[in-house]
Amino acid sequence: MKKIGVLTSGGDAPGMNAAIRAVVRKAIYHDVEVYGIKYGYQGLIDGNIEKMEIGSVGDIIQRGGTMLYSARCEEFKTEEGQQKGIEQLKKHGIEGLIVIGGDGSFMGAKKLTEKGYPCIGVPGTIDNDIPGTDFTIGFDSALNTVIDAIDKIRDTATSHERTYVIEVMGRDAGDLALWAGLADGAESILIPEKEDEFSDVIDRLKRGHDRGKKHSIIIVAEGVGSGFDFGQRIKEATDLETRVTVLGHTQRGGSPSGADRVLASRLGAKAVDLLLHGKAGRMVGIQNNKLVDHDIIEALSKKHSVDMEMYQLSKELSI
Ligand code: ADP
Repeated sequence: MKKIGVLTSGGDAPGMNAAIRAVVRKAIYHDVEVYGIKYGYQGLIDGNIEKMEIGSVGDIIQRGGTMLYSARCEEFKTEEGQQKGIEQLKKHGIEGLIVIGGDGSFMGAKKLTEKGYPCIGVPGTIDNDIPGTDFTIGFDSALNTVIDAIDKIRDTATSHERTYVIEVMGRDAGDLALWAGLADGAESILIPEKEDEFSDVIDRLKRGHDRGKKHSIIIVAEGVGSGFDFGQRIKEATDLETRVTVLGHTQRGGSPSGADRVLASRLGAKAVDLLLHGKAGRMVGIQNNKLVDHDIIEALSKKHSVDMEMYQLSKELSI
């Protein structure tokens, strides 16, 4: 393989740039040409493809977002769209593709592989919801952003003796809410994987209040429902002064953490290694601190699961 391509797709995540850098530098190290495809699968269909050099990825390891931009592309879900993508790759002589993104983007990579076009998926999403890897690129950075925000909210919550509901990202996965809640000693954590815990939230709030607790932090993953709705319900059920903060897209931005830069560098380089060894239709990941790769179709057929022991621990530590 002498020419490979790389794209970022779906929701962006801090560390994607470090992964792009690793792909480009590792390929060039092995005398392989690298082509950057801008705006994900949309750019692939449009032929928005440029050759990358060592210098193309200078000064990006510390930057959030993705220098290749990202996009969502409905057309790529169709046979026709995928065929257009393959034609563009062939036109440029690109023999293999590395897709950095979430599970939706992996579906696209799977489709290309099924059509005989070698692809490797690199998991990049703050949600940490991809099976086959303990961590996705961006999760640790987003976690630190959430922790930083909650620490600040805690100061004002204490001053005013308020209850705070904080809505964090996570439509299907509660990892960000759970890790942030454990790291920040939240009184309650609501995650999509757990049945309605609302009565438990209220019991905990009342117990804490009776013990003279000055403030409370409740973290809600967006998949469970709107933070504002929970705030309203808590106010009605307890009469405590309640405020709501939705952290929103701040969680997707910012400089990647050290852990994410290292993870992205390792996974990006591993993806190149796989392509150069003739592998296709694989995703790379990290499990028990070892780099691994799995069949992308098999991985996607499984479901990521949140660590319920950690969930139980969070309850025990915030009695
Ligand atoms: P993420 O990769 O962050 O999960 P999305 O789910 O939005 O984000 O997927 C990103 C892009 O991947 C989509 O806009 C589409 O171009 C492509 N994609 C998603 N699902 C499929 C599919 N079933 N077949 C082909 N391409 C897909």
